[in-house]
Amino acid sequence: MHAFDYARATEPSQALDLARRPDAAFIAGGTDLLQLWKAGIARPELMIDISRLALDIVKPRDDGIAIGALARLSDVADHPIVQARWPLIAEALNAGASAQVRNAATIGGNLLQRTRCAYFRSGDMPCNKRAPGSGCPAIGGENRSHAIFGGSPHCVATHASDLAVALAALDASVRVAGPAGSRLVGIGDFYLLPGDTPQRETVLGQGQLICAVDVPATAGRAAYVKVRDRASFEFAVVSVAADLVIDDGIVARARLAAGGVGTRPWRLTEAEAALIGERADAAAFDKAAAQASNGAEPLAHNAFKVELLRRTVRRALQVAGGKA
Ligand SMILES: Cc1cc2nc3c(=O)[nH]c(=O)nc-3n(C[C@H](O)[C@H](O)[C@H](O)COP(=O)(O)OP(=O)(O)OC[C@H]3O[C@@H](n4cnc5c(N)ncnc54)[C@H](O)[C@@H]3O)c2cc1C
Repeated sequence: MHAFDYARATEPSQALDLARRPDAAFIAGGTDLLQLWKAGIARPELMIDISRLALDIVKPRDDGIAIGALARLSDVADHPIVQARWPLIAEALNAGASAQVRNAATIGGNLLQRTRCAYFRSGDMPCNKRAPGSGCPAIGGENRSHAIFGGSPHCVATHASDLAVALAALDASVRVAGPAGSRLVGIGDFYLLPGDTPQRETVLGQGQLICAVDVPATAGRAAYVKVRDRASFEFAVVSVAADLVIDDGIVARARLAAGGVGTRPWRLTEAEAALIGERADAAAFDKAAAQASNGAEPLAHNAFKVELLRRTVRRALQVAGGKA
């Protein structure tokens, strides 16, 4: 392991000051960064420990909830108000990782975890995300777990966070602080498509800090359905977050987002549109599900995700629609 400097920040402003060094990285729970560091994929020269910052508060308001970036995943999933009013968040968090990881991992770190693409994680393979210009062996190689939406000739890695999929369906925003002040970024604008710069995954600049996630109020009926290769401790093959508002049996609002299929959390806008104004029944759910994979561009080994996504959407709609 290479030598590095360590600093523990006690205030966000101090963390931002320290992060002016271009070779610095924040560490929160460390559950992703340390893996990447051990594998030689991340090599910060200055480790800024932000885990003690007072950014771990979960604050409900009339118009929504603010979830501190350093709140632990397990604390948020167990929060009684999150469970009662934003069950989609609790369900998505509990569907991820293991209890031990959720006890250590934080909200901000979860949103910024790197892809699970095996070529990215294996330090000795080419990867445009890790070593720009070196190539993307997933495109012509083993790509069962890769994206069917949002890929480019340079990268087809999927985004890994379950939480981000739920937040996409809830139209949440990310509160970001930097040397020039703070700003609120809609989750739909937060993640970048790989294009020809797959190493850039979000709009965050070097040294910018996620302070919180703001989630608007919802009266929706929600469900998070995650399909994975084993029942726990596993990333999504396909996942769907659904948030429905049903008035008098008619779908008044539908928000659907998918994980495991896109290079970023993927909103299923055509399936959403197919639901509006329809009676919330099996026929409408089938019709919407049929639209879910529109525009998909499967690779050699992941065409099964096209149909799996439709079925997962149908299941999420059935579960959400069946809630009182
Ligand atoms: C075995 C295993 C299984 C997993 N399964 C799942 C799963 O099924 N679903 C899922 O969603 N996740 C899963 N994860 C990922 C896990 O949820 C993430 O590793 C975790 O959420 C990262 O949070 P952290 O606080 O540990 O981040 P860290 O590892 O500390 O940091 C991750 C990245 O975020 C940056 N960072 C952290 N906080 C901030 C901040 N506030 N502002 C700016 N930058 C910041 C760090 O610099 C680093 O680049 C799994 C992880 C493991 C190890």
